[in-house]
Amino acid sequence: TIALAERVIALKPSASIVARQKVLELQAAGKTIIDLTIGEPDLDTPAHIIEAATAAAKGGDTHYTVPMGTPALRKAIAAKLKRDNNLDYALNEVIVGVGAKQLIYEAFAATLDSGDEVIVPAPYWVSYPDITAIHGGRPVIVDCPEADGFKLTPQSLEKAITPRTKWLVLNSPNNPSGAVYSREELAALADVLRAAPHVLVLTDEIYEHLTYGDRVMSLGEVAPDLIGRLLIVNGVSKAYAMTGWRIGYAAGPAPLIAAINKLIGQSTSCASSVSQAAAAAALSGDQSCVRDVTEIFRKRRDRMFELLDGTPGLSLRKPEGAFYFYPSVAGLIGKTTPEGKVLASDLDVSLYLLEAAHVAVLDGGAYGMSPYIRMSFGGAMEGIEAGCRAIRKACEALV
Ligand code: PLP
Repeated sequence: TIALAERVIALKPSASIVARQKVLELQAAGKTIIDLTIGEPDLDTPAHIIEAATAAAKGGDTHYTVPMGTPALRKAIAAKLKRDNNLDYALNEVIVGVGAKQLIYEAFAATLDSGDEVIVPAPYWVSYPDITAIHGGRPVIVDCPEADGFKLTPQSLEKAITPRTKWLVLNSPNNPSGAVYSREELAALADVLRAAPHVLVLTDEIYEHLTYGDRVMSLGEVAPDLIGRLLIVNGVSKAYAMTGWRIGYAAGPAPLIAAINKLIGQSTSCASSVSQAAAAAALSGDQSCVRDVTEIFRKRRDRMFELLDGTPGLSLRKPEGAFYFYPSVAGLIGKTTPEGKVLASDLDVSLYLLEAAHVAVLDGGAYGMSPYIRMSFGGAMEGIEAGCRAIRKACEALV
């Protein structure tokens, strides 16, 4: 046996691995599974972005860049933050990473000492607690029930803050719930944060443009006085359909960016030079491709709602942002399948949908809030339509 590090042994494989295993088994048995678990747009990267990457590769842009990212990309990021968020960042306050995920990873690596606490509102993107734990931190999960729109309230934030709190993580639009914080809600959280000057705030804005209502506000725009302890994390993965290019970015106070820079210098050295050229073209080029992506997702969202509305046992709400539905399945718990099995949890629901409907969804338990399931509309319309019809039939078959 290999003597693995304790912090790695402590990482629990997520419960959704059970469902993933089941998908593989059914596929191996020749069944076609409709996959509503996907966390990325199925769309192709827009042509002008690919052309910029090709030109960069052909033009010799094939060497290491500085760890912070090319000046061209950092300028494009600073200009984007001004254009979309009305925020002023200098080039030494902006850094490029291999996806938004690397920046969250390095930000925690740069700041967490053993036992430091990171407040993670639930439901959450699965990586926040795990990345916290990898660096010896303690995730403090705060329940944000559906009755509060799945959003952190000032009261629960206040209760969660201790002298050991290092970070609050805010993710709006939220994966998995689709919740988006309004200007007023952010202002109310900012009031609590003002009374706790030792708390840093990481705002994960990766779904910023995938929103179906008003423009998404950044905490920095609502509370400019908090800018000195705010780390904005964003990237090109979702808005420009560029998940595989692996480019994310962060903006924050220069000393924190410098620390992240040191860590990147000793881990990945830099993000891919060709991908950086592509991301610069994405951020500074014509933005109509972003609006096109949003419109495609709006249609998919509305269709999914139409097809699932009224399904027995599912309590649906239309997400305001991102590309996931997160319905409560409380109405299915305790029901019996045609095979005589009683559904006891959202994991049971997801396994039932897989077996009976051949549709893969993720259980809310994986996102820190049960009983819910997450259904993605990141994939093509045909799959969404077939999946929704099959889910409805399977729910109707329960007694
Ligand atoms: N943040 C959230 C909330 C996400 O859902 C994801 C991807 O699923 C990421 C960050 C990671 O994005 P990137 O591809 O830039 O690493």
